[in-house]
Amino acid sequence: MSDTVAGHPEVRGEERMLIGGELHGALSGKTFPNVDPATEEVLGSTADASGEDMDRAIAAARRAFDETSWSTDHAFRRRCLEQLQQAMEAHKEELRAVVVGEAGSPLAMTYAVQVEEPIADLTYWADMAGSYSYERWLPEREVFGQRHRRLVAREAVGVVGAITPWNYPLYLNVAKVGPALAAGNTVVLKPAPDTPWSATLLGRIALEETDLPPGVLNVVTSSDHLVGEVLTGDPRVDMVTFTGSTATGRRIMANASATVKKVFLELGGKSANVVLDDADMASAIPMSAIGVCTHAGQGCAITTRLLLPRSRYEEGVELAAAGMGNVAVGDPWDPSVLQGPQVSARQKERVLGYIEKGRSEGARLVTGGGVPSGLDRGFYLEPTLFADVDPKATIAQEEIFGPVLVVIPFEDDEDAVRIANDSAYGLSGAVTSASEERALAVARRIRTGTVSVNGGMWFAPDVPFGGYRQSGVGRENGVEGFEEYLEVKAMAFPAG
Ligand code: NAD
Repeated sequence: MSDTVAGHPEVRGEERMLIGGELHGALSGKTFPNVDPATEEVLGSTADASGEDMDRAIAAARRAFDETSWSTDHAFRRRCLEQLQQAMEAHKEELRAVVVGEAGSPLAMTYAVQVEEPIADLTYWADMAGSYSYERWLPEREVFGQRHRRLVAREAVGVVGAITPWNYPLYLNVAKVGPALAAGNTVVLKPAPDTPWSATLLGRIALEETDLPPGVLNVVTSSDHLVGEVLTGDPRVDMVTFTGSTATGRRIMANASATVKKVFLELGGKSANVVLDDADMASAIPMSAIGVCTHAGQGCAITTRLLLPRSRYEEGVELAAAGMGNVAVGDPWDPSVLQGPQVSARQKERVLGYIEKGRSEGARLVTGGGVPSGLDRGFYLEPTLFADVDPKATIAQEEIFGPVLVVIPFEDDEDAVRIANDSAYGLSGAVTSASEERALAVARRIRTGTVSVNGGMWFAPDVPFGGYRQSGVGRENGVEGFEEYLEVKAMAFPAG
């Protein structure tokens, strides 16, 4: 276990929200505390919006969409997104401190997905705004002796409500705001109450260091999840883009149905890592076990079910346990740490509840299962491995969102595919084999939005990411992700 690191940079956030081109406190004057999950200390406070504040933000976004040329001036949007990219780059250390402080993210991860990658990804969205082909002519077509020219145009959907979770707060805020703005929409961003500053800081930087017109980007923070429902139910909002739990996704879909909004959902996962019997287990399994503990297992696409061939089952379980034994747990500011705290006391208790469930349903606890010694303060848990897990057991079916790996044996490739697909989720997966052909054959049969083959890395701004079944609707990133934020309009003209 790691010791506390003294002397890390100060975590300084932004208390105010961005609404209509100005920084505001809540109309009620209320604030709520932002708690550091590594120390349980209060970092500071954030405006605690009510429905009234949300209403103002929606009105501002609507006006900006209807009354400015934002949606049609592609070159201007590109410039604004380039400015945002450069400004965030200039504020990178401030953003890094906020992500470590409020999300408990390991510092090491801020050099990749938590901070540096989302800042770099803004270049991709700026380029997309300027270079995407928004119009496409179809061949002329004759109808009743008259020829017609046909044009298919893509244009912004309108006002987008973006609702994000706390696990990758800056990354997910940018993954929504980037393409939504690039496509010409105006945005109301509502971050999770656990990580408000990754959004309010983004709002302040956009206000002070870019030419974004007032109301194009708004940020509303609240301790009350239901303020999100004002956004998902309002007729002035054209689309909701959401990342979070499947339970909330269902509720958002239902609430958005009253106004038939376009709904884009990135939800939970329970992804399978299938290791075939010819695989080099010693190189594949420990790394994947470590991956399950990264950021305390708080990632939607982590492969949290390890599927092992019965012929090499115990060998695989031992390698997974050894991998978990090598995970440095502790202060997220320690650069060697990969597993920091759970984000809140509530999440910690929730994961402990699943561990208890695993025990009571008869799975074999191989390692972990409790709170690491010496880490009672902060919301820490031990890397935890369960073997001999029934594929139908609760811990094999439900998303735990903690450093918990379940191992399930399979008989042959056919059986592995069946178990991998026996899930309400369909977000991601992995297959490892000495034969790429065999691995690919299994990967093609796994019904999920992404699959890593022999350790391949799919995560990138140009790769569409999303889920089958109850893992979501639509795709984030890539051209497919950009087009989620566009409507399609067909026009036709008589040809001469
Ligand atoms: P959550 O669903 O509890 O909350 C997510 C966001 O929704 C927060 O901003 C919250 O305030 C808001 N919200 C809650 N209830 C709402 C309602 N009724 N109407 C509108 N907004 C509402 O999720 P969480 O606990 O913050 O995040 C963890 C979940 O996110 C996990 O299930 C994880 O798998 C999922 N996740 C998915 C992806 C993905 O890309 N598929 C990525 C990261 C996280």
